[in-house]
Amino acid sequence: MSALVLGHKNPDTDSIVTAISYAHVLNGRGIAATAAAQGEVAPETEFVLNKFNLQAPAVVSEVADKEVYLVDFSDLAQAPADLLKAKIQGIVDHHKLGDVTTDTPLECWIQPVGCSNTIVKMVADYYNVAIPAPIAGAMLCAILSDTVLFKSPTCTELDKKAANELAAIAGVSDLEALGMDMFKAKSNLNASPRDLIFRDFKDFDMGGKKIGIGQLELISLSMVSAELKAQLQSELAAVKAEGRHSAVLVLTDIMKEGSELLVASDDEDIIISALGTKKADVMWMPGVMSRKKQVVPPLQAAFKA
Ligand code: MG
Ligand code: MG
Ligand code: MG
Repeated sequence: MSALVLGHKNPDTDSIVTAISYAHVLNGRGIAATAAAQGEVAPETEFVLNKFNLQAPAVVSEVADKEVYLVDFSDLAQAPADLLKAKIQGIVDHHKLGDVTTDTPLECWIQPVGCSNTIVKMVADYYNVAIPAPIAGAMLCAILSDTVLFKSPTCTELDKKAANELAAIAGVSDLEALGMDMFKAKSNLNASPRDLIFRDFKDFDMGGKKIGIGQLELISLSMVSAELKAQLQSELAAVKAEGRHSAVLVLTDIMKEGSELLVASDDEDIIISALGTKKADVMWMPGVMSRKKQVVPPLQAAFKA
């Protein structure tokens, strides 16, 4: 039986590419593994897979009784509903530790770096598994995506080192140009407001409350018209009404290196003040680029208090 290597819901480039790259590393170690995903790929990921001639992983929604490796997450909220009936074999992740637990020992590679593929590179090196050029190119893109071209505060020296080594394997010399092409593909706003909110969306349990946080990373926020912003705001209210205490959308301007906040909440003030901004027509958060490092921790702290 081939184990499934599975990334989180609403898959981003890192979760899709880690499923592919870690399945390759496991196979190289003699462990039969297949990449899987919990949804269709987003425009940025489609660009990356096309660029390096890779196939999108099969979409899987049920994992009961299957062997699974979790990549780029360890939260039940981001897993298939029947995850606890699966045989969890291992985790590769770079987020805060989630609430997944197991009955048997497992292999965990969890590091506070900017990208799960940086960890996959370390594991490949540790086990002497060679990475083919197409997979190396996609892993490089995942690192450029997750670290926002090395500008995110989540980026570490290990991410830069892995990216440069992967670029050499993939034959990529201009990382900046590749990153910008990728972010142009990512900045595609040609989708419904609901799909835009859910393109990169995660639910969190914060002090017993369900808080959903979406992030849209764009080359420039000037691409978001006043009309689209109003549609996003009203759709966010609908998303909140689906059993959440709060629904938040973080609109990140990659070039300006900051984010604008949209909120629908039972308690807007707690969100706005936790994120250090003020209620205004435009709630701008300078320097905020990372959900995992700059948005989730202050909200988690505010809801714990
Ligand atoms: Mg991810
Ligand atoms: Mg990631
Ligand atoms: Mg991200």
